[in-house]
Amino acid sequence: MNKNNCPNCDEEMKKGYIQSGTRLAWVPKVSKLSVEPSLSKGSVLLSKQNRFSINYVDAYLCESCKKVIIDYSGNED
Ligand SMILES: [Zn+2]
Repeated sequence: MNKNNCPNCDEEMKKGYIQSGTRLAWVPKVSKLSVEPSLSKGSVLLSKQNRFSINYVDAYLCESCKKVIIDYSGNED
């Protein structure tokens, strides 16, 4: 499979980023106690962080399917 093609429709996806002021994570459950996602068991940190609290992650957009694919393989430091 071509990395830049949509796994759903196989159209070419647009490379970009999802940017946030807080860290980005996939979490099994939304925390109601904190704005920042908790990195408890089962959660996956997605964002890289630089100074000025800019968090971002590489993301590919499919305009046909209205889906965003996040590749977090480069985030394990
Ligand atoms: Zn698609």
